[in-house]
Amino acid sequence: MSETKYIKGKYYKTCAFSLCNEIAVGRKDKLFCSNQCKNAHNNAITSEVNKHTKGYDTKLKRANRILLSIYQENEKGYFAVKQITLSNENFPFDLPTVQIKDDRFSSVFYSFGSYAFCKVKDSYIFIKVKPQLI
Ligand SMILES: [Zn+2]
Repeated sequence: MSETKYIKGKYYKTCAFSLCNEIAVGRKDKLFCSNQCKNAHNNAITSEVNKHTKGYDTKLKRANRILLSIYQENEKGYFAVKQITLSNENFPFDLPTVQIKDDRFSSVFYSFGSYAFCKVKDSYIFIKVKPQLI
């Protein structure tokens, strides 16, 4: 059924889930023949989005969650932490970042959300920044 039909107060159209050929019956805005098809359709979209974003949102959230729990700014306005400490926390070093300059420091920082970092020997220096767009 390629077009919507209206018969005795109900709309009939092909289920919007691409792998289903059942007829969805009901109100005009009803798209799926069942909740299973609605869930399968939404899961397929979520799976496709995750494939395209390469889990970056998960990495950003994990990095921010770790920083929220360990960040302790010193009197100079930054937080220094050993790489091994971050590794033990499963810090996602390959997270997406934006390069920024901070007037207080001479090196380039890599920003993600409210934090930015640079590497110095076996440690990372973190600062708080205004969130940058990626
Ligand atoms: Zn269906």
